[in-house]
Amino acid sequence: MSSPQVIDTVAALRARTDEIRVGGGIVGFVPTMGYLHDGHASLMRAARPNADLLVASIFVNPLQFAAHEDLGAYPRDLKGDTALAGRAGVDVLFVPSREEMYPRPVVTTVTVGEVSEGFEGVSRPTHFAGVATVVAKLFSIVGPCRAHFGEKDFQQLAVIKRMVDDLSMPVEVVGEPTVREPDGLAMSSRNAYLTPAERSAAPVVHRALLAGSEVVHGGATDPAVVRDAMSEVAEAEPLGAVDYLAVVDASDFSVPDRLRGDLRLLAAVRFGKARLIDNLGVTVPDGMHRNEKETPRCADA
Ligand code: AMP
Repeated sequence: MSSPQVIDTVAALRARTDEIRVGGGIVGFVPTMGYLHDGHASLMRAARPNADLLVASIFVNPLQFAAHEDLGAYPRDLKGDTALAGRAGVDVLFVPSREEMYPRPVVTTVTVGEVSEGFEGVSRPTHFAGVATVVAKLFSIVGPCRAHFGEKDFQQLAVIKRMVDDLSMPVEVVGEPTVREPDGLAMSSRNAYLTPAERSAAPVVHRALLAGSEVVHGGATDPAVVRDAMSEVAEAEPLGAVDYLAVVDASDFSVPDRLRGDLRLLAAVRFGKARLIDNLGVTVPDGMHRNEKETPRCADA
């Protein structure tokens, strides 16, 4: 595979994507923060067949890191990233400097309500406004496109879909499945922070999600029972500190009283310097609610 063209200015990228669209072509887009792994590559490979020009961006966005977080330590490897992007079929790698993206202090931001408020929004209160703002800006630079995001960051995907909908952005947002290591750990640039002992312990996050999923498949309709099942597995690992474990309605991140339909199990667990997030989709099996539905309900008093 050939090396992608590296572009580092807004004007040059706009000119390149405009040219494709004028000719009737479709632009594919994969935004990242770099230190690319096979999870990122899977988004690029998924985008490739439907794009006449495939753009990936690498930008470690300061707006989405709180002061105490790992902005300065975030791993970087432009040479390795360029090679991986080339192998995954990327045509253009957009690598703007911080000054190119934010030549002045940013006073215009995008805040997405509801879906960004729980879970990551509680643990990292300024995070999603930073994400939404940079993604809105990237969409504005790249222009109309088909943009691919990982389900690994399921709440982020929901936030971006909602932003695009609410602001009528000319972008089709496509979610792609999570890529895992053979032992189940979700691939993440932040796995680089794990010590060998923490790395061995980290697959417990996925095992906790699987335990929750099993309980749902077994007929549980009480969210507390599912959370307890996840908690029992995760809390047994002394190197991990649980931030949250939850089961939500997959469509809107609300926490249901009774489980039904498509759900998402969510986990955030800290291992030393690394805060790992993961999630798993699970659907309540058909018929689980039959008894509930057949029981006549009292009218609300
Ligand atoms: P990041 O570089 O961490 O900001 O991630 C860039 C994009 O890659 C986001 O859409 C992530 O959800 C996606 N991504 C990260 N890790 C994975 C993974 N293990 N599997 C699938 N997509 C991923």
